[in-house]
Amino acid sequence: MTQRAGRDRSRSIVMLCYVVAAICALVRIDTASPAAAPEYDVVILNGRVIDPESRLDAIRNIGISNGTIQAISATAMRGRTTVLATGLVVSPGFIDLHSHGQDQENYRFKAMDGVTTALELEVGTGNANAWYAEREGKALINYGASIGHIPSRITVMHDPGGFLPSGDGAHKAASDSEIEEIRRRIEQGLKQGALGVGFGINYTEAASHWEILEMFRVAGKHRAPCFVHMRYAGLKEPNNGIRALEEVLSASALTGAPLHVVHISSIGLRGTPLLLQMIGEAQSRGLDVTTECYPYTATQTNIESAIYDEGWKEALGIDYKDLQWVATGERLTAESFARYRKTGGGVIGHAIPEDIARISVASPLTMIASDGGLQNGKGHPRGSGSYARVLGHYVRDLKALTLTDALRKMTLMPAQRLERIAPMMKNKGRIRLGADADLTIFNPQTIIDKSTFEQPAKYSEGVVHVLVGGVFVVKDAKLQADVNPGRAIRGAIK
Ligand SMILES: [Zn+2]
Repeated sequence: MTQRAGRDRSRSIVMLCYVVAAICALVRIDTASPAAAPEYDVVILNGRVIDPESRLDAIRNIGISNGTIQAISATAMRGRTTVLATGLVVSPGFIDLHSHGQDQENYRFKAMDGVTTALELEVGTGNANAWYAEREGKALINYGASIGHIPSRITVMHDPGGFLPSGDGAHKAASDSEIEEIRRRIEQGLKQGALGVGFGINYTEAASHWEILEMFRVAGKHRAPCFVHMRYAGLKEPNNGIRALEEVLSASALTGAPLHVVHISSIGLRGTPLLLQMIGEAQSRGLDVTTECYPYTATQTNIESAIYDEGWKEALGIDYKDLQWVATGERLTAESFARYRKTGGGVIGHAIPEDIARISVASPLTMIASDGGLQNGKGHPRGSGSYARVLGHYVRDLKALTLTDALRKMTLMPAQRLERIAPMMKNKGRIRLGADADLTIFNPQTIIDKSTFEQPAKYSEGVVHVLVGGVFVVKDAKLQADVNPGRAIRGAIK
């Protein structure tokens, strides 16, 4: 066979293929019927779809392909995988802005609590590139972090502490050149894709007001949000939550950095309604300020941190008996407090009155964020139960807020908080065509947290299916093995 004859033959074969393809297409069009409607990767049938942005609240089918929502309709759909959601609520996946547990153990508890995106924005990381690289392709749910003032200060001040400072990072004023070095590290983190700047001023008590302002300046330069655990807690004058909020509202107003005040009820305690009032007033003056809370009556932090420095009883309005040692569950005394303060470790503080927890969850100003993180199954129940607790305890049982309002606080509001620095968040927190198929499907009659202060490592109940980017991470109330669809949520400062 000559070369030319070979070419002719392959041309004929190509032509034949075109003709066959055209006939196939015609036949398909001719026989179009509901049965031949597009087939989606996943179809969720007959669920009560609630979208806080469009205010859709109706029975719908959802078609998902290639990780995004392709159809929302009352008409029939076909999918390679189909789940029936009759009697269940289909919500955008929950977005946790304050999630310290950033490993697979914690991601499993999060997924079972309905969370599809868990972000470490309060403490953050000291090295954004390394932090994201560690999780790439290995995460059950979506993840992201801020660049943290705390870890940057730990490094620059040569503090021996790990997650929180206990030496010079907490207790020593920084020199001008040290402040400049912390500032430089923060700007570098933002350029590497961190989601804003994290602060725990109460943990870095020796950080001057000027040092904090310098950090807000670099955030403001890039319009990066600041996620702040404030300098003081409680109501006792002069160093109280009001003064602490004045510090960061002022810093935000001066620098243009958006402000997000973390866990308002665990810092405001009995004074939380006053802080919420101030945040509302700041918003009405045009300041970009938001806040969050978790649905519990106790805090948790490390006993060796500056929060438990002399004066904690007065500041927090609690005593030794209100402290619970995470490792054993025991309540503390003056003697055991002194002993554990030397060894260090997690301690729960039963410090938030129940009515304050309820007011905070119900306030239209707050988002829900867990502040959780379990280690080897130990920790605060907020790490595993925050979202189911809001939906079961506060919405269904106490009727403290409506289901749609609760879902808005878990989905749309956190997405909007981040969408300036991370435009990819415009496709999260919503159920609309083209949005990411991060979905949480739960039974509103049965959803409830099961974790307790004594047994925090308990999965929530009532979350039936959870999808991350169109992939089931929970199906029929069971975690799915060997799937890691979680993607990095990164900032994109200009
Ligand atoms: Zn905190």
